[in-house]
Amino acid sequence: MADDQGDRISTFIARLTDALGPKGVSTDAHEIDPHISDWRGRWKGSTPVLVKPASTEEVSAAMTLCAAYGLAVNPQGGNSGMVNGSVPQGEVLISLKRMNKVREVDVLNDAMTLEAGVILTRAQEIAEQNDRLFPLSLGAQGVAMIGGLISTNAGGVQVLRYGMMRDLVLGIEAVLPDGRVWNGLRGLRKDNTGYDLKHLFIGAEGTLGVVTAATLKLFPRPAVKETAWVTVASPTKAVELLQLAKAASGGAVTGFEIVPQLGLQLVLRHIPDTRDPLPSGLPWRVLVELSLPREEGARDMMESLLADAIGREIVADAVICGSEAQKAMVWKIRENIAVAERAHGKALKHDVSVPVSRVAEFMERGAALAHTMSPGADVIAFGHVGDGNIHFNITPPPGADQERFVEQDGLPLSKAVHDLIASLNGSISAEHGIGRLKRDELAWRKSAVEMDMMRAVKRALDPDGRMNPGRVL
Ligand SMILES: Cc1cc2nc3c(=O)[nH]c(=O)nc-3n(C[C@H](O)[C@H](O)[C@H](O)COP(=O)(O)OP(=O)(O)OC[C@H]3O[C@@H](n4cnc5c(N)ncnc54)[C@H](O)[C@@H]3O)c2cc1C
Repeated sequence: MADDQGDRISTFIARLTDALGPKGVSTDAHEIDPHISDWRGRWKGSTPVLVKPASTEEVSAAMTLCAAYGLAVNPQGGNSGMVNGSVPQGEVLISLKRMNKVREVDVLNDAMTLEAGVILTRAQEIAEQNDRLFPLSLGAQGVAMIGGLISTNAGGVQVLRYGMMRDLVLGIEAVLPDGRVWNGLRGLRKDNTGYDLKHLFIGAEGTLGVVTAATLKLFPRPAVKETAWVTVASPTKAVELLQLAKAASGGAVTGFEIVPQLGLQLVLRHIPDTRDPLPSGLPWRVLVELSLPREEGARDMMESLLADAIGREIVADAVICGSEAQKAMVWKIRENIAVAERAHGKALKHDVSVPVSRVAEFMERGAALAHTMSPGADVIAFGHVGDGNIHFNITPPPGADQERFVEQDGLPLSKAVHDLIASLNGSISAEHGIGRLKRDELAWRKSAVEMDMMRAVKRALDPDGRMNPGRVL
């Protein structure tokens, strides 16, 4: 029986190689190795074959063959996902990394069409070369790819102004589980012709098909960014500052990130060439960024915002970045909290969101929960306060077995944090998705009606359940 299966896989690989050529298929263990564990080294998987199509036609050929042989498929982009979705568990692994062409830049339409394997930093550069902005920005932007960013509906640090990936996509091309190609690459801002199917693929985490290309929105480049680094006494003060900043700038706030003292200390300890531009004993920093269309008056706007905030005792102290290097430094601190935290050790991680009006309440009650249920544990809560999205991480108490805390002993605390989130009408996955990590929890957290609708969509597009089995649903 096992031999039969082995023979089937061998024939499948031979036919795949005929269809895609030797460049498109690999069974070499060294080449496969980086694709079968995640970036943190937390999950390890396996695959019989790594498929590397260079075109939509090749993805279609591979998917048609997988359907004929009844084989499950795991699409992969930059493999930077956080929820154990991109690591194969025996499925055929389709990497989109060779699909990295720019199909079109339509400057007059403020749109560009890129293939799924284009890395985010390159997408940003292409926009800039055309005097436009592609605003998506996140810590993994040097590796994450357009197809993965769409499939996880990635967020990041500019959501406040420009929205999540879902808000940045005009059209999608995808290959369905049976190998058919759906060309939905329309660069339209208005298109009310029935169900908007692209949204099914955005955030689907590869459970409905393989995204092969997308038409993305472009924006005018701001003439100037004013960036400030401020100290505040509490998350409540941070939320008050957000309201003030939005009103004072006419909605020009593009970044509003909260950084806790401990997160900052870890960055200063573990990340080379970092320094705090405003040393203070206060427990919180906020990075405020305004993006403005004119240099004239921009600095005055930031100065008067901060003077007002200090006058109202919302902000304790503030520094406005006077150079590009200073701006880069405060962003470096913010972007490296997760990296520094990883160097420090393991942590229970929660990527959660609540309405912005309840962020402060969540952070206070969440920290109290952690300290009661796990005395001695430290909370590192940071991130996109302007979107109501906090990365709420809890380090093991001193002396605890780190692995055991994260995989076992800390789980009741994680459940309590998610219960708190649910009671505040929040989400247990703000931007990282569900993957295999949160799949079981999703099933009982969502209502039966919502789960039924999701399963019906899955059955309609993937009746054999071969796309990323075990993820999301
Ligand atoms: C340091 C760091 C910081 C991060 N910061 C953020 C952040 O601020 N905001 C945020 O939202 N995320 C963040 N992430 C998470 C991660 O970068 C995003 O989830 C990103 O969108 C994943 O893109 P990827 O190309 O690496 O996808 P992968 O990790 O390869 O895949 C992610 C999921 O999408 C599926 N998939 C991938 N490509 C395709 C495709 N072409 N078609 C169909 N399905 C596909 C995979 O099967 C998997 O389920 C961060 C990650 C790291 C490591």
